[in-house]
Amino acid sequence: MKTTTLIAAVSMLFPLVQAAVPAHFSDRAKEILADSVAVQPAEHPLNIVYFLGNDNEPAADYERRLSEIMHYVQQFYAKEMTRNGYPNRSFGMQMLENGNVKLHLVRGKRPHREYAYGTGHGKCLEEIREYAAAHANTICSDHLLVIMPTFHDEEYNDLQPGGVPFYGLGRNCFALDYAHFDLRHLGQNTHEGRLLTKWLGGLAHELGHGLNLPHNEGTVTDMAAMGTPLMGAGNYTLGMKPTYLTQNSAMLLDRCQVFAPAGDKTAFYAECPRPEVQAASLRYTGTALELTVRCNNTTHVTALVQAPPYAVNQDYEAVAFCATPEAAADAAGYRTYTLTMPLSELTARQNTGKGEQGIDVLFTQPNGLRYRWRTTYDSASLKPGDEIPLSKPESMWQGY
Ligand code: ZN
Repeated sequence: MKTTTLIAAVSMLFPLVQAAVPAHFSDRAKEILADSVAVQPAEHPLNIVYFLGNDNEPAADYERRLSEIMHYVQQFYAKEMTRNGYPNRSFGMQMLENGNVKLHLVRGKRPHREYAYGTGHGKCLEEIREYAAAHANTICSDHLLVIMPTFHDEEYNDLQPGGVPFYGLGRNCFALDYAHFDLRHLGQNTHEGRLLTKWLGGLAHELGHGLNLPHNEGTVTDMAAMGTPLMGAGNYTLGMKPTYLTQNSAMLLDRCQVFAPAGDKTAFYAECPRPEVQAASLRYTGTALELTVRCNNTTHVTALVQAPPYAVNQDYEAVAFCATPEAAADAAGYRTYTLTMPLSELTARQNTGKGEQGIDVLFTQPNGLRYRWRTTYDSASLKPGDEIPLSKPESMWQGY
């Protein structure tokens, strides 16, 4: 069954949840969330853990504040998925009867300072695994958002939060909480307002990593129209300036476990045959790079173009493009994907016209596994009509 047909069938069984704003939310949160869109119920909701040491306490009013914030972030993803052609899809959350988001309160065995930014994540994740084993069926997916309250010491406090882990790590990600982490400061040009954008944008961006997203920059056209991609520098703009999800991000989220609608029984991330490339070519027309790939075992093909270095956190500027698939696969499951990358859509940082350039082709499989296939070439010596030799398909690797 085609995915779209399946989703339509599933939506009849599980009506869309209209995200009603709970009565106890702040007036400002009700105002901000008033234009909420409905979100499809999820088969495997995101697990959210509020993690403490054996000697600290949650920041004041954390359940209401973080519920409001997580509603806001879920709505950002839902609206951007809708705009990108995946209506009413967002990550699912476990909900309480009063409309708050379920935050699993997990208390570690060690003093909170042992769960610090540099090295604290390993012990924290180990103790969350113990919690999951002791509370059967409460952890509902492979994706985990861990939130810890800020340290309070000579360096950090509620007006200058920090000290705790804050990054994505595989399907896990870490964000922080502090007393003023509250939607009522959203968009305000005050210290609390700027802090909120930093840590709210940061949470939404690190969550993106925890939901399988790599960094990416937008095309020149999209950035002029929509602002900053969340997985570029959007962690500094969300809530303050226009921020969006690229179509590349949306395609990856389409095959993310916690975005699967209720009733979707896909075995996410289970081992499965890797994409086989039957034919591929990359041609320079004089104004654009044109890629065609014929492959199987793939739902989406996208590409990232960037200048070196390619290392993690050196890739914020990789511009994302998305391929259009042939309408139907052949009997053996192969399908041709075509992708045009106009050089005019690269910003000056990637379109230097000299030196090495890299194209990473991303293959997203139906069950969410991802492969990356990198080709590099000398952009200075390209002439119109040139065929750029692609690297061997065997060199593609799983994950990012
Ligand atoms: Zn990042």
